[in-house]
Amino acid sequence: MMKFKPVFENVTRPIQILGPCSAETEEQVMETARQLAENDIKVDLFRAGIWKPRTRPNSFEGVGPEGLKWLKRVRDEFGFKITTEVANKEHAFEAVKANVDVIWIGARTTVNPFSVQEVADALRGTDIPVLIKNPINPDLQLWMGAIERMLNVGLTRIGVIHRGFSKFGKSVYRNSPQWQIPLELKREFPDIQILCDASHIAGNRENLYQVSQSALNLNFDGIMLETHPTPDDAWSDAAQQVTPAELKRTVLDRLIVRHEKGDDPVVQHNLEDLRSQIDLIDKEMFQLFSDRMNLAEKIGEYKKQNNITIYQQGRWSEILERMMEKAAPMGLSAGFVDKVLKAVHEESISRQEKVMQGHNEDVLK
Ligand code: PEP
Ligand code: MN
Repeated sequence: MMKFKPVFENVTRPIQILGPCSAETEEQVMETARQLAENDIKVDLFRAGIWKPRTRPNSFEGVGPEGLKWLKRVRDEFGFKITTEVANKEHAFEAVKANVDVIWIGARTTVNPFSVQEVADALRGTDIPVLIKNPINPDLQLWMGAIERMLNVGLTRIGVIHRGFSKFGKSVYRNSPQWQIPLELKREFPDIQILCDASHIAGNRENLYQVSQSALNLNFDGIMLETHPTPDDAWSDAAQQVTPAELKRTVLDRLIVRHEKGDDPVVQHNLEDLRSQIDLIDKEMFQLFSDRMNLAEKIGEYKKQNNITIYQQGRWSEILERMMEKAAPMGLSAGFVDKVLKAVHEESISRQEKVMQGHNEDVLK
């Protein structure tokens, strides 16, 4: 099991990384920090992109190393630790030289093992904390690979940021959360700190709270959120930014932090009781699945003897319709019933297929 040292130490949850999408001008960076401080907002790390990966050319691509001076001013004047995104070795050298507290690897960099390796090599010999965003495509291995490349050069203070995954077509999210992927990553690396970049998942102001709260409900350690003193005029990601005061009022003050385990023994006992009931139901459910598959095999035998095809469209449509009708009043969503039935049907077909193939194999011998 790999051991990670925490990127954030002695902090209360949720860990909060806040700041503008991009550093635009010295005034805008300082004003963001000033408004965060003035609103008494807990800032565990102040963010601002100075090298900006943009999807289309001819948009604002960041102010470059000049912005590092502004970030350092934020640290000096407000006491916030500072972070920025690095995507190649020059960025990494500049960020280390400027003594930024933490660096992050963006989603468009994590997708490319060459770039990740280049950054890792540039960081060898430092012990700078690194936060790694998920790759844009939903590929857990690629995300794990980036973490391993950092570990391989001797870095230990590594954390991750879930920023959602690119999708084709319309959705309420700019990047779809697919929560099972970060949760699976957490299963692989249980002691890694994990934060959720709700701004890039939501892509708008309305869903920032809901996405942030979902992350805390799933036991994430913290959140990254973009904030800007005049969000409508932001040079990048205007639609998802809000002022520090708005961020406090509409998101931060409303967040409920949940704990993995309740302190109260009664709560703990009741939870265990409910969980054991669930375990029992799961066991019975799988026993029933198994009984159903055995029946499917019997039918397979019967079909084989009588030369009937495995798949009969009429029968399948009938099962689907009948179960949809029965499941609706049980409070089960159509999407769920559809998925379960399809999985069951697929398994039945493959079991019947085996029964039939047994016959074919005899013929082929
Ligand atoms: C950002 O944080 O501003 C950014 C570019 O994010 P991502 O790499 O998640 O797109
Ligand atoms: Mn952004």
